[in-house]
Amino acid sequence: LMQLYMPLNFLGSVYTSLRNSLVDLEHMFALMDEQADITDAPGAVSIPARLDQAPAADIRFENVHFSYRPDREILRGVSFHVPAGHRVAIVGPTGAGKSTISRLLFRFYDVTSGRIMLDGHDIRTLSQAALRGAVGVVPQDTILFNDTIGYNIAYGRLGASQAEIEQAARLACIHDFIMSLPEGYATRVGERGLKLSGGEKQRVAIARTILKNPRVLVLDEATSALDTRTEQEIQSALHTVAANRTTLIIAHRLSTIVDVDEILVMGQGRIVERGTHRALLARGGVYAEMWAVQAEEEAAAT
Ligand code: ATP
Repeated sequence: LMQLYMPLNFLGSVYTSLRNSLVDLEHMFALMDEQADITDAPGAVSIPARLDQAPAADIRFENVHFSYRPDREILRGVSFHVPAGHRVAIVGPTGAGKSTISRLLFRFYDVTSGRIMLDGHDIRTLSQAALRGAVGVVPQDTILFNDTIGYNIAYGRLGASQAEIEQAARLACIHDFIMSLPEGYATRVGERGLKLSGGEKQRVAIARTILKNPRVLVLDEATSALDTRTEQEIQSALHTVAANRTTLIIAHRLSTIVDVDEILVMGQGRIVERGTHRALLARGGVYAEMWAVQAEEEAAAT
Protein backbone atom coordinates (compact mmCIF):
# COMPACT_ATOMS: atom_id res chain seq x y z
CA LEU A 1 0.00 0.00 0.00
CA MET A 2 2.86 2.37 0.83
CA GLN A 3 4.26 1.84 -2.64
CA LEU A 4 1.00 2.88 -4.12
CA TYR A 5 0.58 5.77 -1.77
CA MET A 6 3.96 7.41 -2.31
CA PRO A 7 3.60 8.23 -6.00
CA LEU A 8 0.05 9.42 -5.46
CA ASN A 9 1.25 11.66 -2.71
CA PHE A 10 4.00 12.93 -4.95
CA LEU A 11 1.54 13.63 -7.75
CA GLY A 12 -0.66 15.41 -5.24
CA SER A 13 2.10 17.78 -4.28
CA VAL A 14 3.02 18.46 -7.89
CA TYR A 15 -0.64 19.15 -8.50
CA THR A 16 -0.76 21.61 -5.60
CA SER A 17 2.32 23.47 -6.66
CA LEU A 18 1.12 23.68 -10.27
CA ARG A 19 -2.24 24.88 -9.11
CA ASN A 20 -0.61 27.57 -7.00
CA SER A 21 1.66 28.89 -9.67
CA LEU A 22 -0.87 28.94 -12.52
CA VAL A 23 1.86 27.24 -14.50
CA ASP A 24 -0.10 25.71 -17.27
CA LEU A 25 -3.66 25.15 -16.24
CA GLU A 26 -4.87 23.81 -19.52
CA HIS A 27 -2.21 21.15 -19.61
CA MET A 28 -2.78 20.25 -16.08
CA PHE A 29 -6.40 19.47 -16.64
CA ALA A 30 -5.45 17.18 -19.44
CA LEU A 31 -2.73 15.46 -17.46
CA MET A 32 -4.69 14.92 -14.29
CA ASP A 33 -8.38 14.71 -14.59
CA GLU A 34 -8.72 15.01 -10.86
CA GLN A 35 -10.88 17.73 -9.43
CA ALA A 36 -12.99 16.52 -6.62
CA ASP A 37 -14.20 19.91 -5.46
CA ILE A 38 -15.29 21.36 -8.80
CA THR A 39 -18.02 19.48 -10.64
CA ASP A 40 -20.56 20.23 -13.34
CA ALA A 41 -23.92 21.35 -11.96
CA PRO A 42 -26.90 19.22 -13.01
CA GLY A 43 -28.05 20.63 -16.34
CA ALA A 44 -24.80 22.56 -16.83
CA VAL A 45 -25.01 24.57 -20.03
CA SER A 46 -22.61 24.97 -22.88
CA ILE A 47 -21.50 28.16 -24.61
CA PRO A 48 -19.52 28.59 -27.81
CA ALA A 49 -15.79 28.32 -27.10
CA ARG A 50 -14.03 29.65 -30.15
CA LEU A 51 -13.86 33.08 -31.65
CA ASP A 52 -14.89 31.68 -35.04
CA GLN A 53 -18.10 30.37 -33.44
CA ALA A 54 -19.17 33.50 -31.53
CA PRO A 55 -17.83 36.98 -30.77
CA ALA A 56 -15.60 37.65 -27.76
CA ALA A 57 -17.24 37.08 -24.38
CA ASP A 58 -18.29 39.53 -21.68
CA ILE A 59 -16.85 39.00 -18.17
CA ARG A 60 -18.12 40.31 -14.87
CA PHE A 61 -16.80 39.80 -11.35
CA GLU A 62 -19.56 40.74 -8.92
CA ASN A 63 -18.51 41.34 -5.32
CA VAL A 64 -16.26 38.28 -5.33
CA HIS A 65 -14.93 37.05 -2.02
CA PHE A 66 -12.53 34.15 -1.85
CA SER A 67 -10.33 32.33 0.65
CA TYR A 68 -8.11 29.31 0.11
CA ARG A 69 -8.42 28.66 3.84
CA PRO A 70 -11.20 29.78 6.18
CA ASP A 71 -8.91 31.90 8.32
CA ARG A 72 -7.58 34.18 5.61
CA GLU A 73 -9.61 36.04 3.04
CA ILE A 74 -7.65 36.62 -0.17
CA LEU A 75 -10.25 38.49 -2.26
CA ARG A 76 -12.46 40.86 -0.34
CA GLY A 77 -15.23 42.10 -2.57
CA VAL A 78 -13.77 42.37 -6.08
CA SER A 79 -16.04 43.78 -8.80
CA PHE A 80 -15.12 44.63 -12.36
CA HIS A 81 -16.46 44.31 -15.89
CA VAL A 82 -14.55 43.44 -19.03
CA PRO A 83 -16.87 44.20 -21.96
CA ALA A 84 -16.54 41.91 -24.98
CA GLY A 85 -13.31 42.60 -26.83
CA HIS A 86 -11.82 44.88 -24.17
CA ARG A 87 -8.43 44.49 -22.53
CA VAL A 88 -8.09 44.86 -18.79
CA ALA A 89 -4.84 44.59 -16.84
CA ILE A 90 -4.43 43.67 -13.18
CA VAL A 91 -1.43 45.05 -11.33
CA GLY A 92 -0.36 45.24 -7.71
CA PRO A 93 2.22 43.99 -5.25
CA THR A 94 3.08 40.34 -4.87
CA GLY A 95 0.44 38.43 -2.92
CA ALA A 96 -2.29 40.98 -3.69
CA GLY A 97 -4.50 38.31 -5.30
CA LYS A 98 -3.89 38.89 -9.03
CA SER A 99 -3.32 35.28 -10.04
CA THR A 100 -6.16 34.20 -7.79
CA ILE A 101 -8.52 36.16 -10.05
CA SER A 102 -7.40 34.19 -13.11
CA ARG A 103 -7.62 30.88 -11.23
CA LEU A 104 -11.22 31.70 -10.28
CA LEU A 105 -12.09 32.68 -13.85
CA PHE A 106 -10.83 29.30 -15.04
CA ARG A 107 -12.85 27.80 -12.18
CA PHE A 108 -9.96 26.16 -10.50
CA TYR A 109 -11.77 27.05 -7.32
CA ASP A 110 -15.28 28.35 -6.65
CA VAL A 111 -15.84 31.77 -5.12
CA THR A 112 -16.81 31.93 -1.46
CA SER A 113 -19.47 34.55 -2.21
CA GLY A 114 -20.40 36.84 -5.07
CA ARG A 115 -20.28 35.52 -8.62
CA ILE A 116 -18.34 35.46 -11.85
CA MET A 117 -20.37 35.90 -15.00
CA LEU A 118 -19.40 34.95 -18.53
CA ASP A 119 -21.83 36.20 -21.16
CA GLY A 120 -24.42 36.58 -18.42
CA HIS A 121 -24.00 33.01 -17.11
CA ASP A 122 -22.71 32.37 -13.62
CA ILE A 123 -19.66 30.24 -14.48
CA ARG A 124 -20.80 27.63 -11.94
CA THR A 125 -23.75 26.90 -14.23
CA LEU A 126 -21.54 26.25 -17.26
CA SER A 127 -20.05 22.90 -18.12
CA GLN A 128 -16.36 22.90 -17.31
CA ALA A 129 -15.58 21.78 -20.83
CA ALA A 130 -17.39 24.83 -22.23
CA LEU A 131 -15.78 27.26 -19.79
CA ARG A 132 -12.28 25.92 -20.30
CA GLY A 133 -12.74 25.81 -24.04
CA ALA A 134 -13.77 29.46 -24.04
CA VAL A 135 -10.89 30.68 -21.87
CA GLY A 136 -7.32 30.39 -23.14
CA VAL A 137 -4.41 30.95 -20.80
CA VAL A 138 -0.91 31.92 -21.84
CA PRO A 139 0.96 31.03 -18.66
CA GLN A 140 4.28 32.34 -17.39
CA ASP A 141 5.77 28.89 -17.66
CA THR A 142 4.67 26.45 -20.28
CA ILE A 143 5.07 22.75 -19.81
CA LEU A 144 6.13 21.03 -23.00
CA PHE A 145 5.25 17.44 -23.80
CA ASN A 146 8.07 15.07 -24.67
CA ASP A 147 6.94 15.11 -28.24
CA THR A 148 7.56 17.10 -31.41
CA ILE A 149 7.33 20.88 -31.40
CA GLY A 150 4.57 20.53 -33.99
CA TYR A 151 2.52 18.38 -31.62
CA ASN A 152 3.14 20.84 -28.80
CA ILE A 153 1.49 23.56 -30.88
CA ALA A 154 -1.23 21.29 -32.30
CA TYR A 155 -2.25 20.49 -28.75
CA GLY A 156 -4.15 23.80 -28.78
CA ARG A 157 -6.61 22.15 -31.17
CA LEU A 158 -5.96 18.51 -31.83
CA GLY A 159 -6.87 17.75 -35.40
CA ALA A 160 -5.57 21.03 -36.79
CA SER A 161 -3.88 20.70 -40.18
CA GLN A 162 -0.16 21.24 -40.71
CA ALA A 163 -0.98 24.46 -42.58
CA GLU A 164 -2.99 25.74 -39.61
CA ILE A 165 -0.21 24.83 -37.20
CA GLU A 166 2.34 26.71 -39.30
CA GLN A 167 0.07 29.71 -39.63
CA ALA A 168 -0.30 29.86 -35.84
CA ALA A 169 3.46 29.54 -35.44
CA ARG A 170 3.99 32.39 -37.90
CA LEU A 171 1.62 34.65 -35.99
CA ALA A 172 3.40 33.73 -32.76
CA CYS A 173 6.81 34.61 -34.33
CA ILE A 174 8.17 31.10 -33.79
CA HIS A 175 7.94 29.62 -37.30
CA ASP A 176 11.37 30.81 -38.45
CA PHE A 177 12.97 29.44 -35.32
CA ILE A 178 11.28 26.08 -35.87
CA MET A 179 12.39 25.97 -39.50
CA SER A 180 15.99 26.55 -38.36
CA LEU A 181 15.88 23.35 -36.27
CA PRO A 182 17.39 20.25 -37.91
CA GLU A 183 14.08 18.42 -38.11
CA GLY A 184 11.76 21.44 -38.25
CA TYR A 185 8.30 20.74 -36.85
CA ALA A 186 9.29 17.11 -36.20
CA THR A 187 12.03 18.15 -33.73
CA ARG A 188 11.46 16.60 -30.35
CA VAL A 189 11.30 18.99 -27.39
CA GLY A 190 10.72 18.78 -23.65
CA GLU A 191 12.65 17.05 -20.90
CA ARG A 192 13.99 14.38 -23.22
CA GLY A 193 14.40 16.53 -26.30
CA LEU A 194 15.57 19.98 -27.23
CA LYS A 195 15.33 22.42 -24.35
CA LEU A 196 13.67 25.67 -25.34
CA SER A 197 14.37 29.03 -23.73
CA GLY A 198 11.72 30.78 -21.67
CA GLY A 199 10.90 33.10 -24.58
CA GLU A 200 10.64 30.22 -27.06
CA LYS A 201 8.37 28.27 -24.75
CA GLN A 202 6.16 31.28 -24.32
CA ARG A 203 5.84 31.63 -28.07
CA VAL A 204 4.88 27.96 -28.33
CA ALA A 205 2.16 28.71 -25.76
CA ILE A 206 1.01 31.68 -27.83
CA ALA A 207 0.89 29.59 -31.02
CA ARG A 208 -1.09 26.93 -29.17
CA THR A 209 -3.57 29.55 -27.98
CA ILE A 210 -3.90 31.04 -31.48
CA LEU A 211 -4.92 27.56 -32.66
CA LYS A 212 -7.30 27.11 -29.74
CA ASN A 213 -8.87 30.45 -30.69
CA PRO A 214 -10.68 31.06 -27.38
CA ARG A 215 -13.15 33.91 -26.85
CA VAL A 216 -11.38 34.97 -23.68
CA LEU A 217 -7.67 35.25 -23.18
CA VAL A 218 -5.74 35.38 -19.92
CA LEU A 219 -2.12 36.46 -20.16
CA ASP A 220 0.08 35.81 -17.18
CA GLU A 221 3.04 38.00 -17.95
CA ALA A 222 6.42 36.49 -17.17
CA THR A 223 8.26 38.12 -14.30
CA SER A 224 11.64 36.98 -15.56
CA ALA A 225 13.50 39.49 -17.68
CA LEU A 226 13.87 38.63 -21.35
CA ASP A 227 16.27 40.32 -23.71
CA THR A 228 14.84 43.31 -25.56
CA ARG A 229 14.48 41.62 -28.93
CA THR A 230 12.72 38.55 -27.50
CA GLU A 231 10.54 40.83 -25.43
CA GLN A 232 9.51 42.78 -28.53
CA GLU A 233 8.74 39.59 -30.47
CA ILE A 234 6.65 38.29 -27.63
CA GLN A 235 4.79 41.56 -27.24
CA SER A 236 3.98 41.59 -30.93
CA ALA A 237 2.81 37.96 -30.77
CA LEU A 238 0.67 38.75 -27.74
CA HIS A 239 -0.88 41.66 -29.57
CA THR A 240 -1.85 39.31 -32.38
CA VAL A 241 -3.42 36.76 -30.08
CA ALA A 242 -5.27 39.41 -28.05
CA ALA A 243 -6.86 41.04 -31.10
CA ASN A 244 -10.68 40.94 -30.91
CA ARG A 245 -10.64 38.82 -27.77
CA THR A 246 -11.70 39.76 -24.27
CA THR A 247 -8.32 39.87 -22.56
CA LEU A 248 -7.25 39.86 -18.94
CA ILE A 249 -3.56 40.58 -18.40
CA ILE A 250 -1.77 39.89 -15.14
CA ALA A 251 0.97 42.40 -15.60
CA HIS A 252 4.32 42.86 -13.95
CA ARG A 253 5.84 45.43 -16.28
CA LEU A 254 3.65 48.50 -16.48
CA SER A 255 5.22 49.55 -19.79
CA THR A 256 3.39 46.67 -21.53
CA ILE A 257 -0.09 47.80 -20.50
CA VAL A 258 -0.15 51.56 -21.12
CA ASP A 259 -2.76 51.18 -23.88
CA VAL A 260 -5.25 48.78 -22.24
CA ASP A 261 -8.87 49.84 -21.70
CA GLU A 262 -8.70 49.67 -17.92
CA ILE A 263 -6.08 48.96 -15.28
CA LEU A 264 -7.16 47.46 -11.95
CA VAL A 265 -4.74 48.12 -9.13
CA MET A 266 -5.01 45.43 -6.45
CA GLY A 267 -3.96 45.80 -2.85
CA GLN A 268 -4.68 43.30 -0.10
CA GLY A 269 -7.54 41.59 -1.87
CA ARG A 270 -9.31 44.73 -3.03
CA ILE A 271 -9.22 46.94 -6.08
CA VAL A 272 -7.71 50.11 -4.68
CA GLU A 273 -7.59 52.15 -7.89
CA ARG A 274 -8.90 51.71 -11.42
CA GLY A 275 -8.76 53.63 -14.67
CA THR A 276 -6.71 54.14 -17.79
CA HIS A 277 -2.96 54.57 -17.57
CA ARG A 278 -3.35 58.28 -18.21
CA ALA A 279 -6.09 58.79 -15.64
CA LEU A 280 -4.20 56.82 -13.01
CA LEU A 281 -1.04 58.84 -13.57
CA ALA A 282 -3.02 62.07 -13.25
CA ARG A 283 -4.52 60.79 -10.01
CA GLY A 284 -1.07 60.62 -8.42
CA GLY A 285 -1.89 57.60 -6.23
CA VAL A 286 -0.59 54.03 -5.87
CA TYR A 287 -0.32 53.42 -9.62
CA ALA A 288 1.51 56.66 -10.27
CA GLU A 289 4.00 55.70 -7.61
CA MET A 290 4.48 52.19 -9.08
CA TRP A 291 5.05 53.80 -12.46
CA ALA A 292 7.66 56.20 -11.07
CA VAL A 293 9.50 53.35 -9.32
CA GLN A 294 9.57 51.19 -12.49
CA ALA A 295 10.73 54.10 -14.63
CA GLU A 296 13.59 54.68 -12.20
CA GLU A 297 14.51 50.99 -12.23
CA GLU A 298 14.48 50.89 -16.02
CA ALA A 299 16.60 54.02 -16.24
CA ALA A 300 19.08 52.51 -13.79
CA ALA A 301 19.22 49.27 -15.82
CA THR A 302 20.13 50.98 -19.10
P1 ATP B 1 2.35 37.52 -7.48
O1 ATP B 1 2.49 38.85 -8.13
O2 ATP B 1 3.48 37.24 -6.54
O3 ATP B 1 2.11 36.39 -8.43
P2 ATP B 1 -0.48 37.60 -6.77
O4 ATP B 1 -1.02 38.96 -6.58
O5 ATP B 1 -0.76 36.93 -8.05
O6 ATP B 1 1.08 37.60 -6.47
P3 ATP B 1 -1.87 35.36 -5.59
O7 ATP B 1 -1.07 34.28 -6.23
O8 ATP B 1 -3.21 35.61 -6.12
O9 ATP B 1 -1.04 36.72 -5.55
O10 ATP B 1 -1.95 35.02 -4.03
C1 ATP B 1 -2.67 35.83 -3.13
C2 ATP B 1 -2.49 35.28 -1.73
O11 ATP B 1 -3.06 33.99 -1.63
C3 ATP B 1 -1.03 35.12 -1.31
O12 ATP B 1 -0.88 35.60 -0.01
C4 ATP B 1 -0.79 33.63 -1.34
O13 ATP B 1 0.11 33.25 -0.35
C5 ATP B 1 -2.16 33.07 -1.07
N1 ATP B 1 -2.33 31.76 -1.72
C6 ATP B 1 -2.15 31.49 -3.02
N2 ATP B 1 -2.42 30.19 -3.30
C7 ATP B 1 -2.79 29.62 -2.12
C8 ATP B 1 -3.18 28.30 -1.74
N3 ATP B 1 -3.30 27.31 -2.62
N4 ATP B 1 -3.46 28.09 -0.42
C9 ATP B 1 -3.36 29.08 0.47
N5 ATP B 1 -3.00 30.34 0.17
C10 ATP B 1 -2.71 30.63 -1.11
